[in-house]
Amino acid sequence: MARWFKADLHIHSTLSPCGSLYMSPKVIVEEARKKGLDLIAVTDHNACESLVYVKKVADGCGLALIPGMELQTEEEVHLLAYFGSLDAVFSFKEAVYPFLPDVENDPDYFGDQVVVDEDENIVGFEEKLLINSLLLSLDQCVEMVRDFGGFPVPAHVDRESFSIIGHLGFVPEHLGFEAVEVSRATSPEKALEMWPELSKYVLLSFSDAHYPGDVGAVYTEFYMESPSFEELVRCLRGEGDRRLRVVSQSSGGWE
Ligand SMILES: [Zn+2]
Ligand SMILES: [Zn+2]
Repeated sequence: MARWFKADLHIHSTLSPCGSLYMSPKVIVEEARKKGLDLIAVTDHNACESLVYVKKVADGCGLALIPGMELQTEEEVHLLAYFGSLDAVFSFKEAVYPFLPDVENDPDYFGDQVVVDEDENIVGFEEKLLINSLLLSLDQCVEMVRDFGGFPVPAHVDRESFSIIGHLGFVPEHLGFEAVEVSRATSPEKALEMWPELSKYVLLSFSDAHYPGDVGAVYTEFYMESPSFEELVRCLRGEGDRRLRVVSQSSGGWE
């Protein structure tokens, strides 16, 4: 039976250098539950190792997780990529990792890149700086995401930096995107006023949380049959009576 699912599909963990060291799997899941979310995606920059532990904690309390990553393309465009399973996202990560430049992270400058397990222990860290552009163009990234069965969504298209509109000035039609994300700094309505051509796409909005308090600050509600990747894609395609709406939690409306 279809129902509404509250989803925040853009959250960073301790593995993202810019993500707070408080963003452990346990804290992310606790925050998501506190905010009444049904479904989350943790989308670290060019990495996915935290997902194993986020899934363990989420499974334990009935929160659904869609595996994802946030890629940074050669053009410095951020691209969200969602997958149907942990296996799929890990295979994808293996394929793109060689294209991440061999630049060592400087934790004092960028922050630590650590993997924290379900019991809050640090179980790994990434040496290569993750917040760097892959040596892959936007076109190549989109093609690879689809080759691995994933669903690509340009991130925070309204932002001046690290966004498809910020860098290219428009959303290239040949890439065949079906949905784009608008940052929580604006509303989908305002984004449409600024860029009427976005009406071709389904507009989503999520928190892009780097700190616990931001989880669920903006979320999208999906009317669908289950909180799964397959249903998410059907919902984005408007199959049957599936539909969605963007919700801002902040009392004053949009920032
Ligand atoms: Zn981003
Ligand atoms: Zn992000």
